[in-house]
Amino acid sequence: MNYADAVALLRHLVTIPSVNPAASPTKSDTVGEGRLARFIFQYLSDAGLHCLMQEVLPGRPNVIAVLEGDSTPAVLLEAHTDTVGTDNMEIAPFEPGEEPDIVRGRGSCDDKASLAAMMTAMVRAARHTPRCSCIFAATVDEEHLFRGVHKLTTEPLPLPVQGAVVGEPTQLRIICAHKGTVRLRITVLGKAAHSAEPQRGDNAIYHAAALVEVLARHAQQLAQRPAHPLVGRPTLTVSTIQGGTAINMVPDRCEIKVDRRILPGEEPAAVAAELRQLVARHANGRFSYEVEDILLDPPMELSPDAPIVERCQRALEAAGGCSQVCGAAFGTNASKFAIAGIPALVLGPGDIAQAHTATEFVRAAEVEQAADIYFRIITNQ
Ligand SMILES: [Zn+2]
Repeated sequence: MNYADAVALLRHLVTIPSVNPAASPTKSDTVGEGRLARFIFQYLSDAGLHCLMQEVLPGRPNVIAVLEGDSTPAVLLEAHTDTVGTDNMEIAPFEPGEEPDIVRGRGSCDDKASLAAMMTAMVRAARHTPRCSCIFAATVDEEHLFRGVHKLTTEPLPLPVQGAVVGEPTQLRIICAHKGTVRLRITVLGKAAHSAEPQRGDNAIYHAAALVEVLARHAQQLAQRPAHPLVGRPTLTVSTIQGGTAINMVPDRCEIKVDRRILPGEEPAAVAAELRQLVARHANGRFSYEVEDILLDPPMELSPDAPIVERCQRALEAAGGCSQVCGAAFGTNASKFAIAGIPALVLGPGDIAQAHTATEFVRAAEVEQAADIYFRIITNQ
């Protein structure tokens, strides 16, 4: 079957901006998933699918399309409608271009390639006999707080499902395990003073600098821990530092942000507690500080023997793809499905190396192949 229509659809999706409001709170004309959600709703309704809008945040709904047939079990296909911001882009963010082999623009790879391929597969499946059962969900807010998938998985689904296929750039490989993320804000507190008399103050930057050294040593120790067979070793990055207000003042605050990538088997809360302990041992009453959780996002691991994995492997083999299961360092909505008791894997067109970049693009051939694979997953062939 020819799936060139998936690429044409993707080019159109790129022209509809859907930047996550957290990435660009001021650019109101390009921000939010509302316009894209309305387009998806209309497109799939026109193709005869039963669609509903699931309000998540004001003007930011998930779109759910349901195909109800005789063949069981149903599968859930999910991809996200929001994108990261466009400030760093070196190409026109909402112009996909006309090159036959490539689609460019913000979201072309992450995650509109998966959206377009899934939508095309759903439209094909709606015309297929015997009718099969499937849910497609286009969710909001994946690039910030995952509130779209949270809403989707905490309300009853329209059909029971065997599992979920999360569309993200995996170069059409099946991802069965990925890391989770723990992010903390550590605010080191000192005492302000005039820099002519620094002995009257307590320099928060000096304390924070020593703490950064401690965290860097911890990162080196993490690199010695045993590797997970699919996702490798845990990591830690001190990713921002901010402190001081004026060149002639002893700073009374210095804030650092820490990003720790956790392995399947590690608990986000336990890892956050481990980091808090590390900070407490180092501070040891010499300075005060506050620690705040920014994100506790769990890792994901699905048995390669799960029926949803075998189903996707069959589809990949039939479509001439690679059916070997892999791991990924980046987090996805799959871990949120797993928490809700829905077995989930990640599988989609595009390369994660292109996601969020200044020149984001996806190869058209991969989008067409993805539509074919999703169609075979839906129809279980
Ligand atoms: Zn994504």
